[in-house]
Amino acid sequence: MNEQALLHGDRPLVVKIGSSILIDDAGRARRDWMAALVGALTGRPGPVVVVSSGAIGLGRRPLGLTGRPTSLADAQAAAAVGQIELARTWADLWSAGGRTAAQVLLTLGDLEDRGRYLNARNTFETLLERGVVPIVNENDTVATGEIRFGDNDRLAARTAQLVGAELLVLLSDVDGLYDADPGTTPHARRIPFVEHIDAEIEALAGTAASTGFGTGGMVTKIEAAKIATAAGCPVLLTSGRHDEPFDGLDEGRRGTWFAARQRPLAARKQWLRGLQQHEGRLTLDAGAAGALKRGASLLARGLVDVDGDFPRGALVRLDGPDGAIGQGLSGYASDDVRAIRGAHSERFHALLGYSGRGPVIHRDDLVLFEPDEMPP
Ligand code: GLU
Repeated sequence: MNEQALLHGDRPLVVKIGSSILIDDAGRARRDWMAALVGALTGRPGPVVVVSSGAIGLGRRPLGLTGRPTSLADAQAAAAVGQIELARTWADLWSAGGRTAAQVLLTLGDLEDRGRYLNARNTFETLLERGVVPIVNENDTVATGEIRFGDNDRLAARTAQLVGAELLVLLSDVDGLYDADPGTTPHARRIPFVEHIDAEIEALAGTAASTGFGTGGMVTKIEAAKIATAAGCPVLLTSGRHDEPFDGLDEGRRGTWFAARQRPLAARKQWLRGLQQHEGRLTLDAGAAGALKRGASLLARGLVDVDGDFPRGALVRLDGPDGAIGQGLSGYASDDVRAIRGAHSERFHALLGYSGRGPVIHRDDLVLFEPDEMPP
């Protein structure tokens, strides 16, 4: 199915790599393998995002820790030490391939807060437009307990959603989802394609974890696949234990593919349409209302009125001259929207004291009501 998207796609590819693939038994980065991955992806026409684990694994040795850190504080300290080397190794390798790398550390809280979500999305958008390769990991220093992603599988799925990826690849030490434990069942078969993640598939993942096959990580991989496919991004789960990371994948020789449930933008619009707690209202002139219907973003120029006090990222209702036309997430707090109402973006700096952050509402952050639809 999406084999082409892997090495030849135009839209973002997110590749997640587990610690067991990146770090050898002596606690060193497996540079040759990383170089092979970079080599395989440098020619890809579309953007690449790498979600890389391995910070804790790399940080253990310099701290004199043997085995897995037992306390969270040790794990966080190891991650802080290891992350520098991890990022530097990726940066060196991408640079040798002619690309600039960027470090992006995220927590679950960052992506759940709408304002910070928009910031993260804007940063990714800018990096990808400039051909930079973001190297993403969880911000382990501040992420603890209930605010942790806890595993980079889910972080990768949320990243794929954030950048509107055309494919998410999870590279780990398993080469796919099996219909039974391949360690104990001689005839266990790899499931090459999953159209829909149903209870049966989830049960297989559960069995995998509890019997130890798939190193206990299959549950989070299926969870990640659920998040990504619901957001419109297909997922390939496969083994990274090959010297050439992507050999054979574009011919479907290994791995499990999970089909996307719908197109990414449709998924996002559906989510936006379901939001109900409006914190304000923006009234648009006829020109802006017409532009929105043609697929444009909402510019300050077309704003007639601003109601309510709301932060950046808040859900606001959009009214045209004839009433409600849609809703979206405001790219500015209400005070700033009032300041720039009716103005051209060239004046933003004078009005706001900074040059602004683009349109009042980005076209991907708004949804228009159908003509006969009642606003929520
Ligand atoms: N953030 C952790 C690290 O870099 C890895 C978490 C995971 O692999 O799930 O070591």
